[in-house]
Amino acid sequence: MPLIDSHSHVDQYDASEIPAILDRARDAGLGMIIVAGTTVESSRNAVTLSHGHPIVYGGVGLHPADLTGPLDDETADILRQLAADPRVVVWSETGLDYLESSPPREVQDQAFRAQIRLAIEAKLPLVVHSREAHPDMLRLLREEHASDVGGIFHYFQGDLATAEAAMDMGFDISMAKPLLRLPELQEVAAKLPLARMVLETDSFPQPFKKHRDHWTEPWHLPQVAEKLAELQRVSVDEVTAATTANVLRILGGRVSLSDLQQR
Ligand SMILES: [Zn+2]
Repeated sequence: MPLIDSHSHVDQYDASEIPAILDRARDAGLGMIIVAGTTVESSRNAVTLSHGHPIVYGGVGLHPADLTGPLDDETADILRQLAADPRVVVWSETGLDYLESSPPREVQDQAFRAQIRLAIEAKLPLVVHSREAHPDMLRLLREEHASDVGGIFHYFQGDLATAEAAMDMGFDISMAKPLLRLPELQEVAAKLPLARMVLETDSFPQPFKKHRDHWTEPWHLPQVAEKLAELQRVSVDEVTAATTANVLRILGGRVSLSDLQQR
């Protein structure tokens, strides 16, 4: 059974590097990589990439940290058109980011609400980013009826109560590389139902890491699967089977097991 990287930013790598990155991913047992847009331009790039590589599927959305202002009608129309592409399977990435350097909260609130509505209109599952914003995240998901489409709580770093509230609204919990090093997160991950968990790398170029080999890439995904297997006391095969089935369920039949790339 192939693994699915439910969230990455492979499009941000230099175009000349991408074919080798995807080869390494296939060699590591991945059968699907969802590339998430963070701006209009990168959403467009994600769609283009998904048409060039069978292993890649696209997400469109505006990352809260990349907002330059409220989401206007013209931008909404462009996103709507991109989201209608058959290779687009999620509304990703959107959410709330309350770091001090991030855009004003009222701008984020407006853009996130607007994107939840667009995702519901497009019938696409939402992939949400929440940094230092869990109470507002849960409140906005509830107020905007995000459970109509559900989706994925990406790069999860929260407590059990937050995970449970998200799951109640139809969101699966996504684990990334922080699972390898954060004891509190490991404790939460051990208690969550495997039937509601997915995996991701959130990979993007990391020039701040000196060694190129240390930049996160989709081929690192098995490390997260192995850690989750250890925490859940099941085999890696069980984690692979469950997390892959979970992503396919979330995508609502847009992609089937036979569509996944095999080594
Ligand atoms: Zn991301």
